[in-house]
Amino acid sequence: MIVVMASGATSEELEKVVSQIKDLGYQVHILNGVERNVIACIGDERGKPQLLSLGAFSGVDKVMPVLAPYKFAAKTSFPENTLIEVTKDWSIGKGIFSVIAGPCAVESEEQIVSIARNVQKSGANALRGGAFKPRTSTYSFQGLGEEGLKFLSVAREETGLPVITELLDPYKLDLVAKYADIIQIGARNMQNFSLLKEVGRTKIPVILKRGLMATVEELLMSAEYILAEGNPKVILCERGIRTFERATRNTLDINAVPAIKDRSYLPVIVDPSHATGVAKYVSSVSKASLACGADGMIVEVHNKPSEALSDGAQSLKPEVFDEMMQSMKKIADVLDVRLGTL
Ligand code: PEP
Ligand code: MN
Repeated sequence: MIVVMASGATSEELEKVVSQIKDLGYQVHILNGVERNVIACIGDERGKPQLLSLGAFSGVDKVMPVLAPYKFAAKTSFPENTLIEVTKDWSIGKGIFSVIAGPCAVESEEQIVSIARNVQKSGANALRGGAFKPRTSTYSFQGLGEEGLKFLSVAREETGLPVITELLDPYKLDLVAKYADIIQIGARNMQNFSLLKEVGRTKIPVILKRGLMATVEELLMSAEYILAEGNPKVILCERGIRTFERATRNTLDINAVPAIKDRSYLPVIVDPSHATGVAKYVSSVSKASLACGADGMIVEVHNKPSEALSDGAQSLKPEVFDEMMQSMKKIADVLDVRLGTL
């Protein structure tokens, strides 16, 4: 932490601040400037709100944290990028661009099983499908609930694909955990801290989606909630943020991929479907995600997008998904990265 004294602060004011810093257990290094003094507090400041309160001392201009406000999520704590094991055959992280594909929502057994078969043929590593849907309107399709989870497990039995599904409430954790290989925490719940703590107490891998208006730092601080509870298996997901641009549903912050990788060792995947909201843009954005060093993508595929109960406009038909995978394969080969199971 750096404490910048106001110009004109008296030596008594400086001394009071210095003695408080020492009482809090920090070493002090004072830099005497021409106009003002700066105090460097030496020691780990995270989780010590008293240091920030120095801003209330007379003569203090500002207090500036030096360390990122997260520890377990920081690259400085774990410099090696991690590989997150989901099943014995599939890990997310270095050297593979993992592909998770499937409908926005599970609608019937027949629907999810047929999509699972299709995406598997095209090289997907895993199947997505929401059984509990976070809908803006209470009148929209809310998901099939436990029945949807059961259909997902039928699809897993039929294909062997691991399944990813969203958890909306802490009290549904035990139920969702019975079926999910990866739990998704959606954008709207990125800062539902009690939900984050609950999934942090499990050992189930978690895909944490970036909030609609959240910064990269806030995303990492949310990941910290899960990691600090003891669950190391966190996968971050850039799914577009809300900006003034309305040509697309959201604005994919492709910058977030290298920016997160610079700060954290956690894998980062991209969701080109929610980022664009437009099926015909999904392929371009998926290729950009692969090329910019993301660890994978989660993409919506529906057998009949025009009849989908949610997010049909951004869902790819299975044959379009297949074409996209074929053209992404060429990029993956150049990059020497494995694309899904291809
Ligand atoms: C979803 O994955 O279907 C979803 C609702 O995503 P998000 O939370 O990113 O909006
Ligand atoms: Mn969706």
